[in-house]
Amino acid sequence: MEQLKIENTTLEIVQGDITNQKDIEAIVNAANAYLRIGGGVAGAIHMAAGPELEEESTKLGPIKPGEAVITGAYNLPNKYVVHCLGPVYERDIPHDKLLANCYKNAIDICEEKGIESIAFPAISTGAFGYPVEEAAQVALKQIIDKMKGLKKLKIIRMVLFSRNDFLIHIETLKKLYK
Ligand code: ADP
Repeated sequence: MEQLKIENTTLEIVQGDITNQKDIEAIVNAANAYLRIGGGVAGAIHMAAGPELEEESTKLGPIKPGEAVITGAYNLPNKYVVHCLGPVYERDIPHDKLLANCYKNAIDICEEKGIESIAFPAISTGAFGYPVEEAAQVALKQIIDKMKGLKKLKIIRMVLFSRNDFLIHIETLKKLYK
């Protein structure tokens, strides 16, 4: 695990499964616009949460790229799921701004609700085709920018599914925060 502390908040980079973050209050879903089950992260989250998650989430859709909404987490070990719609690479333009908005809006929701810990997957880097090196730069830069002045959020965790994506995020963090 790699860590970076800024003021009262710690950024952690880990390799793992987003549905298995037992010590985290809110996990982030890489959602589709209609907040339906889908594949990848969304499929794993809905499978672990149970059908009530989709019943609640679909009422909040459709959402636009960069937007985030919050629901309960049902059978997941967390309290909330924050659903973010990432941009499709080279289709939802400007993809870097829209991807950064996902992280920014999710963190703002936590601050509003008094949530103390959040875990993100690498939004848009699966089916939406965002190259992981570029996505890691956008995500980590936005998270670090937001970490200054946070009042409630104490832990922000990036959870990378593959070893390769984990190592890329660690390298990117080192470059951004020398
Ligand atoms: P998007 O549609 O936003 O691209 P995906 O769910 O297809 O979202 O993939 C986003 C990233 O999440 C990919 O890098 C994928 O490898 C990773 N991923 C898939 N399943 C999990 C999981 N259970 N936990 C964490 N990351 C996951």
